[in-house]
Amino acid sequence: MNYLVTAGPTREFIDDIRYVSNLSSGRMGYALAAAAGDAGHDVILISGPCTLPAPAGAELISIVSADQMREAVLNSLPKADIIVMCAAVADYRPARRIPGKMKKGPDVMSLELVKTPDILAELGTLEAKKFLVGFALEAENALENARAKMASKKADMIVLNSPAAIGAETSAVQVLTPDGGATRIGPAAKEIIAAKLIKTIDSRFNEEPAQP
Ligand code: C5P
Repeated sequence: MNYLVTAGPTREFIDDIRYVSNLSSGRMGYALAAAAGDAGHDVILISGPCTLPAPAGAELISIVSADQMREAVLNSLPKADIIVMCAAVADYRPARRIPGKMKKGPDVMSLELVKTPDILAELGTLEAKKFLVGFALEAENALENARAKMASKKADMIVLNSPAAIGAETSAVQVLTPDGGATRIGPAAKEIIAAKLIKTIDSRFNEEPAQP
């Protein structure tokens, strides 16, 4: 099968020097790409800025912003059966990117932010829909919010994790499916969780009716 995995943070530039981002290390996404390769799949890894080495055998596409990630994901669609959106895509970006370096100004200033494209939600609307796995990082009402996210984004699976996982070496997740299923994996190193997740995704994908 062909996996497309996204990983890492995105950077949304304020000017040519400064950006809005998050603490994602990319470790979970890179571990998923490696585990999918180990399981015999072809893997495209679309990654925001990370310091990790590319997993052997994966085709690495490096991007910076949410807009670039969207473009890379859409361009890679013909080569994907299963899309795992593990990236911590920034939800907002500065409304304007100022060329050069913004001058220091008043004591208080505000930054206008606009929503980035929701890539996973867009994938959920496509006619030739792929098998979609989303990640949800929820601080409160985790299960309820993650299930609502799965429905609104038309994902086939949601991997729910906690804010403690961001940038950490270990994680503990719950795998949610639209039929009400919930399976816990971990706490364990992200590499171990990744291998179990790929097994879970593979068996679920093989149960699903064939995509048109
Ligand atoms: O809505 P929320 O950001 O919590 O959803 C998380 C899921 O949606 C993750 O799978 C993430 O990769 C994806 N996402 C996306 N595009 C965005 C924001 C999140 O694809 N702009």
